[in-house]
Amino acid sequence: MDLNYAPEDRAFREATRRWFQANTPKVEPKTLAERKAWHRTMYDAGYVGMLWPKEYGGRGATPMQQAIVQDEMARAEAPPPINGLGIGFIGPTIIVHGTEAQKQRYLQKMLTAEEIWCQLYSEPNAGSDLAGLKTRAEDAGDDFFVISGQKIWTSSGPIADWGILLARTDSKVPKHKGISCFLFNMRQPGVDVRPLKQITGSSLFSEVFMTGARAEKSDLIGKLNGGWEIAQTTLGYERGANSLGRVTRYLTAFHHLVRMVKELKRNGKALIDDPVVRAKLGKIFTELEVQRYAALRVLSALSKGEPISAASSITKLSYTEFEKRFFELGVEILGPWGQLMPGSPDDVVEEMSTSSGEPGTFATAYLWSRAGTIYSGSSEIQKNVIGERVLGLPKEVRADRMKG
Ligand SMILES: Cc1cc2nc3c(=O)[nH]c(=O)nc-3n(C[C@H](O)[C@H](O)[C@H](O)COP(=O)(O)OP(=O)(O)OC[C@H]3O[C@@H](n4cnc5c(N)ncnc54)[C@H](O)[C@@H]3O)c2cc1C
Repeated sequence: MDLNYAPEDRAFREATRRWFQANTPKVEPKTLAERKAWHRTMYDAGYVGMLWPKEYGGRGATPMQQAIVQDEMARAEAPPPINGLGIGFIGPTIIVHGTEAQKQRYLQKMLTAEEIWCQLYSEPNAGSDLAGLKTRAEDAGDDFFVISGQKIWTSSGPIADWGILLARTDSKVPKHKGISCFLFNMRQPGVDVRPLKQITGSSLFSEVFMTGARAEKSDLIGKLNGGWEIAQTTLGYERGANSLGRVTRYLTAFHHLVRMVKELKRNGKALIDDPVVRAKLGKIFTELEVQRYAALRVLSALSKGEPISAASSITKLSYTEFEKRFFELGVEILGPWGQLMPGSPDDVVEEMSTSSGEPGTFATAYLWSRAGTIYSGSSEIQKNVIGERVLGLPKEVRADRMKG
């Protein structure tokens, strides 16, 4: 395996690095309007929707170029694009399964963040067992379905204009076979979005209550009752995404940690002089490098056009569990300084990006690190997928799989 970059990729990286050095905002964009403006600046420079086909407003770039942009963004500690769910996997799902009219109507405004998207899959009793969802879509006979039910953990729900929605269209068939997928207008009567307060203090996700809301028949994506297949496409994109940029973000946090342990003192000595601290830092750095090579393996498969499919569960399980260990170690080594939240005096706290993209401290990054082992399928679910679909082990014994 050749681990060197091709000359054209090196040139692309240098140009990208220069652009982010010159354009990354000096002050973190805070309001929605400021975040949209930064997103638009990146889009106009060609750094959003890298893999999307040119005909739908993307760059038609290679997976390597996309990875380089994510890597350089992380290196510059640039704020991420705002419409991450839309651009990362809802748009690509529409490109694969949508009609031409849907592509023309939705994709461009998703890329430019004129319309923000969310994912309406999970429900209070349908998370890991997503196929057990109860939200109903009833055919109203004319041009639309009537939607009633409740969704939960809807990221970006409070700011979303549109959502990709899974709802039950047939309750008489086995549960996976009676689900349909819709593109759903969040700004209509009958949709009530209630933000949820998170442990970090922010409210990036929400509950969504739908009472007699409307989904147009022209917004059905794929076939009626074919929603499960669409959900698999979405989850596949979600689990394999942004591998190299993530490692660079960890590395940036690692450098913050090293800087802090050089400055902070315990019992009159710099923390870095404590042999136990040094050994722990060395061990976690080795793990970080393992993450880098795992990311390169994903990138190599994508570059060769190989599907990452169920194997993306291995990457997801590995990096999310690593992230928990990494930030837990940071909090442990830093002691009381590791507990500082944003808003503490600048001279004692290092600011860094959390896995959600919002800026924070080691404490918020530690709190956020729990989320990765839950969303897009929890660690236990990834282990089931790896066992059954990658290793070919016997299927998990589950009540809904038993006959009679
Ligand atoms: C930060 C964050 C953002 C999210 N954003 C969105 C979003 O935008 N849109 C959306 O639709 N959803 C979103 N989710 C929801 C997420 O997909 C679900 O939380 C996840 O699928 C787990 O479902 P659950 O919370 O209902 O837990 P449950 O399914 O109730 O699981 C509870 C526990 O039981 C374990 N478990 C369940 N089934 C099995 C099994 N068969 N074998 C072994 N162990 C099992 C789980 O691993 C877990 O530890 C988000 C979640 C988080 C944390």
